[in-house]
Amino acid sequence: MKLEFHPYDSAWVKNIRQGGADDYGLPAERAVSDGKGKPCRHCLQYIPVGAAMLICAARPFPVKQPYAETGPIFLCAEACAAYAGEEVPPVLQDSPEYLLKGYSSDFRIVYGTGQITPQAEIERVATKILAQTGIAFVDVRSARNNCFACRVTGGA
Ligand SMILES: [Zn+2]
Repeated sequence: MKLEFHPYDSAWVKNIRQGGADDYGLPAERAVSDGKGKPCRHCLQYIPVGAAMLICAARPFPVKQPYAETGPIFLCAEACAAYAGEEVPPVLQDSPEYLLKGYSSDFRIVYGTGQITPQAEIERVATKILAQTGIAFVDVRSARNNCFACRVTGGA
């Protein structure tokens, strides 16, 4: 199975950069990256030290429902290219472990799939979860802070 790593929705990100409301109805907070662990959820790269960044509340699910967790994410304040690739993106390469969790096509947690996963095992564990019946995608989150990092689907 090929894996695809999906960044945060480009239209949503563009709206936030233009001053639009986040998923708590607030404009993004502006900050300057200190270069330490500030992953942009759009380019899936670390925001370089000194670069302007945005902090906002994001709900990576289409509608509100009990499983639609909302939490903080960082974004490059300036336009950046959406990550596109089958490789584990740069923002998933510096923590020793991540939380991987499988979801159904109606965006609900499939219980029993969630697991703290060592960095080197991300592809293997994501593939294993995606191979199970009823899994539409796997979300990768910080194992320390639970922040949404990116979504993984399986290709042909
Ligand atoms: Zn970015």
